[in-house]
Amino acid sequence: MRISKNVCIVASGDSGLSLTGPADCTVYLVDGGSSCALIDAGFTLEPEQIVRNIEDDGIDPDRVDSILLTHGHGDHAAGARWLSLRLGAKVYASDATAAYVSRGDQKALSVDVARDAGLYPQDFHVPSVPVTPLADGSTIEVGDVRLSAIYSPGHCSGHCCYLMGEDLFCGDVMSAGGRIALQDIWDCDIQAYLDTVRKLHGLHVRGFFPGHGAFSLERGYRHFDAAMERIGRLWLPLNSIGE
Ligand SMILES: [Zn+2]
Repeated sequence: MRISKNVCIVASGDSGLSLTGPADCTVYLVDGGSSCALIDAGFTLEPEQIVRNIEDDGIDPDRVDSILLTHGHGDHAAGARWLSLRLGAKVYASDATAAYVSRGDQKALSVDVARDAGLYPQDFHVPSVPVTPLADGSTIEVGDVRLSAIYSPGHCSGHCCYLMGEDLFCGDVMSAGGRIALQDIWDCDIQAYLDTVRKLHGLHVRGFFPGHGAFSLERGYRHFDAAMERIGRLWLPLNSIGE
């Protein structure tokens, strides 16, 4: 589903548009013309549907040559191996996420506790796949489009957002209405999270493309404004998890 000149949504579960499997995060396709990139890879129980959705948007799947992971949680990264093989695409992420996913470290990715909590099936795991690390602030060219990696820890240690001009793909850092995603996992870090929100607020973004929930094509900064309003009172932003 094309939502702007350069952006399509090719997967989205029940926390979004219910376009694909219920547990999928929203997977965006960046169309740079001669080449394309996926932002995240979904859970994904129905990966073929993602490929069909790419085709339905008029894009030859062979043009997708990179997959940029915001982080390694199962709903974002489990589809990376299948999609990278099917599309012949290279996978990128932050240093930490690249290390966790490359070695299939289920503990570092909190898959073990998510299974125990009944969030994932008992036999679920994030398949290992080679991931190329992207340094904080580094850029990657996708055809005519340039994406910058912005390290954004807090939700988990290896979280990375991707800035495309004034538009931000922000993974699980922020959802609509200024909601952050705090949970009881080893690498969720409130102080790092608040620093990340302050940093991203300073970008005054236009397009707001989160991993879950509603996206915004304009005035994306509103969601960061809402979180900062609470932070300004020494409160935590509202939490999207467990509501
Ligand atoms: Zn997550």
